[in-house]
Amino acid sequence: MIVVLRPGCSKEEIAHVEAHLKDLGFIPHMLYGVERTVIACIGDDRVTTKEHLEAVPGVERVMPVLAPYKLASREVSAKTTVMELGGPGPAVKPGTRTVPIGGEKLAVIAGPCSVEDRGMLLETAAAVKEAGAVALRAGAFKPRTSPYQFQGLAEEGLQYLAEAREQTGLPVITEVLTPADIKLVADYADCLQIGTRNMQNYLLLRACGESDRPVLLKRGMSATLEETLLAAEYILSGGNRNVLLCERGIRTFETHVRNTFALTAIPALKEKTHLPVLADPSHGTGVRRLVAPMTKAAVACGADGILIEVHPNPEKAKTDGQQTLDFREFAQLMRELKPLAEAVGRKL
Ligand code: PEP
Ligand code: MN
Repeated sequence: MIVVLRPGCSKEEIAHVEAHLKDLGFIPHMLYGVERTVIACIGDDRVTTKEHLEAVPGVERVMPVLAPYKLASREVSAKTTVMELGGPGPAVKPGTRTVPIGGEKLAVIAGPCSVEDRGMLLETAAAVKEAGAVALRAGAFKPRTSPYQFQGLAEEGLQYLAEAREQTGLPVITEVLTPADIKLVADYADCLQIGTRNMQNYLLLRACGESDRPVLLKRGMSATLEETLLAAEYILSGGNRNVLLCERGIRTFETHVRNTFALTAIPALKEKTHLPVLADPSHGTGVRRLVAPMTKAAVACGADGILIEVHPNPEKAKTDGQQTLDFREFAQLMRELKPLAEAVGRKL
């Protein structure tokens, strides 16, 4: 249920409504907007009535939320939520976030699939920044299909990411595989990525819900949109309001691509949720020459941001080289994206 307060409601009235909802057994999630406050209430609606709540001072109207994902639902906010990511400087300081995601500016996030060594990461960070990326993404903990494949540099990789952040000012996004690693990853990174294989790892989702870092949640490769939004709901209901969703391709019978990039998920998610929606055409296709056209398609259909894998020499990449762009290809794509982004009302 959503309780919409009157514009210009006093602090005391807001506190009174919040306390009243708690007394009724609800968990109120306060959404303070510029014009008015909205309270998303989780709990059993049958303990009260619409008429009763609408008589509480400060309350304008009460509406049920029909979607099962209560806090992620578009019903809670007609506007897309803008998340602030990262900030320049050596240490990650909460409250110093500077890159908005979900607003007018299209957020291009780029980097190598894995942090392989210091030199390649710093070189890639500088190149993607130069081409116009707003954040750096690379894996230090890699969830690999085979235990014999490169598993990532772990904390050493996180240190290189922090150094890249220091050098470029780009906020850093990296994957976290277990609840036990969240603190370590959050000490170095601005945003925690939950990969496709962990989208339904509910313990990890809950633990990320307690973190103060924004979470980039990738759609499970076999997850429906509703399951994806309910996974986001685990994080949101834990108190972490900063969730970015990401379409990264799903498993189908098709073999000409690594995954089937579900382009329709982008406008469909935008209809269902106020959370920013990103697209990952690198994993979504798994094929280098398809990355540029699918990036353009994703921007055209409303993605708030794009995730692209970039490496100094993709042929030598330890992971995902076949879907990775080199610096020249990435810079070229960024140039081609600019007029396209503008055509759909976005800035690059
Ligand atoms: C990645 O981002 O490199 C990755 C492992 O992604 P996904 O979880 O989508 O496979
Ligand atoms: Mn990858």
